[in-house]
Amino acid sequence: MQFDFHNPTRLVFGAGTLSRLGELARPLGQRALVVTGGGSVKRAGTFERALSSLAEAGVTVFECDGIEPNPRISSVKRGASTARDNHCDLVVALGGGSVMDAAKVIAAAALYDGDPWDMIFHGQPQPHIPTQALPLITVPTLAATGSEMNGTAVISNAERKEKSFVMAPCLYPRIALLDPELTLSVPPDQTAYGVCDLITHITESYFNGSGDTPIQDRFAEGVIITAMEYGPKAVADGRDLNARTQLQWAATVALNGWISSGSGSAGYPVHMIEHTVSALHDITHAAGLAIINPAWMRFAANANPAKFVQFAERIFGLTASGPDDLACALAGIDRFETFLKFIGCPTRFSDLGIDDRLIETYAKETLRIVHDDQGRLPARPAMSEADIVSVLRAAL
Ligand code: NAP
Ligand code: FE
Repeated sequence: MQFDFHNPTRLVFGAGTLSRLGELARPLGQRALVVTGGGSVKRAGTFERALSSLAEAGVTVFECDGIEPNPRISSVKRGASTARDNHCDLVVALGGGSVMDAAKVIAAAALYDGDPWDMIFHGQPQPHIPTQALPLITVPTLAATGSEMNGTAVISNAERKEKSFVMAPCLYPRIALLDPELTLSVPPDQTAYGVCDLITHITESYFNGSGDTPIQDRFAEGVIITAMEYGPKAVADGRDLNARTQLQWAATVALNGWISSGSGSAGYPVHMIEHTVSALHDITHAAGLAIINPAWMRFAANANPAKFVQFAERIFGLTASGPDDLACALAGIDRFETFLKFIGCPTRFSDLGIDDRLIETYAKETLRIVHDDQGRLPARPAMSEADIVSVLRAAL
């Protein structure tokens, strides 16, 4: 096992910590671009509170609102212009993963003269990997993506019908300010999608790992079990602050590099396939994951059941006859799918009104963006175009 773990983001966590925003922001900058989405932070009063904390600390605020779910490069360009025109020296993201991802690329684009779409990975060579960005504070209002404490952003291009990612050290936020009270207003469907997203971040490294990683496995299983315990509570009662607190922490640790370090993960196949479907249909990220992940798990379990047997035993308490007990592996996946349905996630494309017409296109597009030197999607096992089509067909 070998790894190099470095996460430079300072994490400030706890109910009520939004009041510290100004005090934390002031050493980083004096002119903040506050990035928000379609209005949820205004309706919940979060925006007002953030602004008064910043004002008290002497930070001047400029706003970039209207970041859409599956944030678009056009919004990133708009935000970067606002930042440049107003000489902003700091970016504050106040919203869900879409707002945080857009804010990361805005922070880099404000210091880049070229087209910000150059930064988004859409096959090698990547025209521009950002090396500098304005300092960023993330204040997530939704427990889901983990974007608050990683160096990744996922951006869509509506004209090109593409959705892809950028990963760069300069995109790590300086500070992640996590106040679970801000998530009390998240509706049940988005709460459930967040649970699905965070669990999928973990299963991607858990099942695509190189094996013999007992510590990482137990970290992963512990966070999955915790999300499965508190997720249904938060879906049933959005005002349950303890459930919201556990989910917020689970979502952050699921994708801040801690669980995946040393796992030898081959790739993020479920996310890569979902991005393509989202690019073409603008579906909610985790709704796509809830549909694709169980189908992918069945495909991968057939090739290599042992890890899925471990998942079935440790997460669902099933008993296997041995490490290759495929029936037990598949029973665990069925239980997982039942859980997703129970919290309110779709589990088939038909639930979203998507049919088989573009299946080959999704597979080709996924491979066009990400592929190994044999043209396959990096995963364990690596996936050919036919493999991706078979997984998608099983999810119809
Ligand atoms: P989101 O797209 O940011 O937000 C979904 C919806 O939830 C929006 O309508 C938003 O409304 C609403 N919302 C957010 N906070 C709320 C609150 N406190 N109360 C009520 N409504 C609230 O959802 P997300 O799942 O966090 O982010 C999804 C995006 O992140 C996708 O583009 C996905 O590909 C990407 N992603 C990124 C990473 C990463 O590591 N960077 C990982 C996984 C996924 P408003 O717009 O009105 O605020
Ligand atoms: Fe995700």
